[in-house]
Amino acid sequence: MPQNRRAPARLGLSGKIAILVCVAAALASVGPWIGHYMQQKAEVRERAEHIVLRAADGFVRMTSKYMASGDQSGLNQSAELISRDPAFDAVVIFGPNGEVLATAGDGAQLAGTEIAQNLASGGTGTWSGDGYSLGSLSINFGGDVLGSVMIRAQHSNFKQAGSSPITHFGLTLLSIVLLTPGLVLMARALQPPTAPILDAVKKAKPGRAARAFADINPTADPDLRAALSVMGGEFDKAYSHARTLALRDPTTKLPNRVRFMSALDAHLKRQTPVIVLIADLDGFRKVNELVGPRGGDEVLEKVASKMRAAIRAADRTVRTAKFETAPTFLACIGADQFGFVIPDDVQENADRIAQLMGAALSQPIEVEGRSMRLSASFGGAAAPQDANTAAELLKLGELALKHAKKQNSGRVAFYDETLLMELETKARLEEDLRAGVELGEFIAVFQPKVALETGEIVGAEALARWRRPDGSVVSPGVFIPKAEEMGLISKLGIGVLRDACEAAAEWNRGERTCRVAVNVSPLQFQDPDFIPSVFEALEDTGLNPELLELEVTESAAINDPERVTRIMRPLRAKGVRLSIDDFGTGHSNFTTVTRLPFDVFKIDQQFVRALSEDPHAPAIVEMILAMAETLGQETVAEGVETAAQADFLRRRACTVGQGYYFSPPLPREEFLSFLHAWRPDLKFIAAA
Ligand code: C2E
Ligand code: CA
Ligand code: CA
Repeated sequence: MPQNRRAPARLGLSGKIAILVCVAAALASVGPWIGHYMQQKAEVRERAEHIVLRAADGFVRMTSKYMASGDQSGLNQSAELISRDPAFDAVVIFGPNGEVLATAGDGAQLAGTEIAQNLASGGTGTWSGDGYSLGSLSINFGGDVLGSVMIRAQHSNFKQAGSSPITHFGLTLLSIVLLTPGLVLMARALQPPTAPILDAVKKAKPGRAARAFADINPTADPDLRAALSVMGGEFDKAYSHARTLALRDPTTKLPNRVRFMSALDAHLKRQTPVIVLIADLDGFRKVNELVGPRGGDEVLEKVASKMRAAIRAADRTVRTAKFETAPTFLACIGADQFGFVIPDDVQENADRIAQLMGAALSQPIEVEGRSMRLSASFGGAAAPQDANTAAELLKLGELALKHAKKQNSGRVAFYDETLLMELETKARLEEDLRAGVELGEFIAVFQPKVALETGEIVGAEALARWRRPDGSVVSPGVFIPKAEEMGLISKLGIGVLRDACEAAAEWNRGERTCRVAVNVSPLQFQDPDFIPSVFEALEDTGLNPELLELEVTESAAINDPERVTRIMRPLRAKGVRLSIDDFGTGHSNFTTVTRLPFDVFKIDQQFVRALSEDPHAPAIVEMILAMAETLGQETVAEGVETAAQADFLRRRACTVGQGYYFSPPLPREEFLSFLHAWRPDLKFIAAA
């Protein structure tokens, strides 16, 4: 397709009307000329006819006596006399029977024509042909018709100067010729000169539209040109505004990510070493929550000016040798992220700059009447050793930043290959986890719970395990947080719950009542399908709902007690019990706890373990037990590893114990055998 094809000229309605008016005007000017020409032609004919008749009349009076006397030479002389008049070119004298008596001029030729014969037989009359007129008059003498005379006049002999049809035609042509450019100009003025505007727009350089538009079509209407130049000015203003928006962060007024990338590109093109550093404010979301979005913007503004000042100082103190030629470039590359392009090859210098930035940020900032101290994490990558494109450097810098965020102190990390390997391992794990959930690779193992008073097994906690196709078993500490992060926890959790219900239904086929406790992630409570899927699992496996217990961690429960209450209501109505897991770690107060709809306290294993080590531990455990007793709740102590711990708990009226002292978590079949073989530990009971 040709690129610079002319755009078809477009006529608006007004343009069309203008053209019509012009055509009408042209016709109106040509019309009179044509009319005049026609009229003149008719006039000439009339005059010619009149004249030939008058001439014939005179001729008859002159010749009638010659006719009567038969004077042939008189007739000839008279005819000759008339034909000498320039107006007449042919004269014929006919006899009474139409015979030719005398001719002059082209009379002989005329006499032979049919028209002349017919006219002569009529005696008197006129007739006009193409460019000539004939007049015929009978010659009477004494009441007798002696013959007739016929005279012919050529019209060309009757024309006046200046009125020739050629001149008329020429004038008409001239008027048309004069009218045409007028027409074109008019059409142009009435339609926007699309093609020149398009040309100008195409040629206009960004921000230079005003000048380009001013040069458009000098023949166009001045108003139109004025409007275009105003428009061009507006375009230019809009462009420079857009440019500012596109390249500058509106909050901090620092260069934005786009300019950061082009600055980095420019360095890389020069092939000089460069270190990219990314700073991310720690806990900026909390700051936003504290001071609101506008306060948050103010914080960022202040952070930016602190960084600007600090980087100038750092360039002077840290990078003295190179400062003169290449200062560090600072940009705001994300909401609370800043980027530094440091033209340096010494990682220690970049590290030093990060430390100085951190120190600057730790100075208090006053916003909305609050004083706050901020901190940031830093990630860095270097060219050419780590990467040599801007995008890749930024990616590696971000990877290092993520690593820095995970650290507790220092919080400055530089990219190295192990980070990438970690990332790959993580990606592979995620892929496998997704597949594992689909393939049902997650199963439950069961850890017995023993009644401390009787030594009977009263239940088991179901603990998730990931059996991978290669036979390895992954612990929940690895995959539960990952599954939560990936949104897979609902599916995984419900799979484990079904597995547990199925196993428990099997144990409880006889006389036995042995509960099963299943761990529930707080995220599962946000899933609208949670309640129906629990009911479905109970129904499908036939497990009595009273034998199912759900374990929710204390921190999750006190985080959103309303939700827990709402979710548990229909389940508890069917007999399902709720247990508060890891109790003592969530620092909940007595009032909150009493408001939660739970049936069991699970004392966290750290307190149980501490019983034998920490002199304060017994007091804490006793306090929890006393609280449970007041509320009339069952208490389960986790992580019981020794007889001494079991004994202490039993004596302090803890109802149930769970831990390696009794059994580690067991696969389903083994748990069943364990259950059948279990005899209450007499030694343990004897100690009571
Ligand atoms: P948890 O609910 O506190 O589970 C108790 C953990 O303590 C289990 O670890 C168990 O194997 C371990 N344990 C039991 N007895 C002893 C003992 O005497 N000494 C010591 N040192 N440890 C003992 P596990 O199986 O690795 O589970 C870790 C955590 O993963 C669980 O802590 C629970 O929070 C979570 N989890 C396990 N299964 C599931 C599940 O199906 N869903 C959810 N959402 N979380 C689960
Ligand atoms: Ca648990
Ligand atoms: Ca626990």
